[in-house]
Amino acid sequence: MRRNPETGETSPPRDPKPTFGSADVAAAWSGRPSAARPLVVRGELAGAPFTILMREEALTASWGERLVVACDRAGRLYSFWRAGHTYRRGLNGRVLHKCQDEAGRHWEWLDEAGAEVLVDEAAALFRRLHDTVKAGPVRFIAHPEPTPLDRVVCLAALELGARFTAAAARADAARFARVYAPIGILPPDQYLALVVQGTIGCSFDTCTFCDLFGQRYRVKTPLEFAKHVEDVRAYLGPSLSLRRRSIFFGSANALAVPIARLVEHFDILVRELDAKTRGVGAFVDGFTGLRKTTADFLMLAKRGLRRVYIGLESGHDPLLAFVRKPATARQAIETVRAAKAAGVSVGVIVMIGLGGDRFADAHVADTITAVNAMALGPTDVLYFSELVEIPGTPYPVLAAHEGLRALSPAECREQRRRIREGLRFVGAPPKITSYDIREFVY
Ligand code: SF4
Repeated sequence: MRRNPETGETSPPRDPKPTFGSADVAAAWSGRPSAARPLVVRGELAGAPFTILMREEALTASWGERLVVACDRAGRLYSFWRAGHTYRRGLNGRVLHKCQDEAGRHWEWLDEAGAEVLVDEAAALFRRLHDTVKAGPVRFIAHPEPTPLDRVVCLAALELGARFTAAAARADAARFARVYAPIGILPPDQYLALVVQGTIGCSFDTCTFCDLFGQRYRVKTPLEFAKHVEDVRAYLGPSLSLRRRSIFFGSANALAVPIARLVEHFDILVRELDAKTRGVGAFVDGFTGLRKTTADFLMLAKRGLRRVYIGLESGHDPLLAFVRKPATARQAIETVRAAKAAGVSVGVIVMIGLGGDRFADAHVADTITAVNAMALGPTDVLYFSELVEIPGTPYPVLAAHEGLRALSPAECREQRRRIREGLRFVGAPPKITSYDIREFVY
């Protein structure tokens, strides 16, 4: 109760000033009786039509021909589209700008100021849509029929998006950094997974083309990991509904951890995140993976492990040695076989263009042999990942020193075609797809 110092009277406390992500507004969306039921709202803003689509995991608003913005259920902006330019915001606050022209696809990270302008622009649009829906008239479309509660929920969701201003986004990114170590990369089918980090960094950190996990490698204790899982859940809150596809147990080579400790970590995932139902993915490298037996993989599979991702990169051992990858093709093949024998599917990553012109023919021939020896099937995935020469990594310097010529885009396409042509599968083939590390945002 508040007390008036002059009259001595007391009155109920004022409603706390709403802030981004506050429980009251989030609860209106979360508490929607049939959250899985999509809701569409149509209306007009400043002479242009708008459409709001509310799904269980996110709200997408399009306005005229100009803008499409999307936020998750906590109001966190994650996608912004304007006139052929796509912007993806990661939870770490960075915004990736993607576009395409005659020269091909382009990617660039916005600087901090550019990211803040974009976030504020999205928040302002959500605010204007909120006020327009509140004032009416707008049309609600849902099956079964819309109810008065739909309007309340829509306004609550727009309110969350409107509160996610640059200042709120900055604070949110700082909170993310307290909960997570940098998330270097994920396999493409895990971009919408719930990431939890049982380890930090990469246990090897030697590959000359890679700068993805620059941190000192460390394995969390079960106590630390349980606390991390709790923090992740608290941080994401309603945003979890967008990242529910599966669980990704990170970071790089997370399965390098001794099996006894891994089992403890997976038990936490089963208990706290329903890992058996949702399924778990993780990276493993050929070298460490070799130390996991089929029995080890079975223990993890019983606790939800569904797919392991292994960076074969190349089947040509001299090329692996050249890029200081701590594995041989044989070790990768045996790791894949051990995982598959335990019923765990695999995602195998092959790099295109690695080793330039010097290694090209041997890379193609030995990679075909290695992948064919893995006996991949329909539950597996084969990724072709074109080499991206990252400034500051040793690879470009070593390649130049050795006189390697980088393959042109056309030569890369041809290399991929040649590898694909040489692959033979006994039954149904695995899914074969691209893995472009420049697309990654979490
Ligand atoms: S093992 Fe993987 S994450 Fe580690 S340095 Fe090599 S490519 Fe990078």
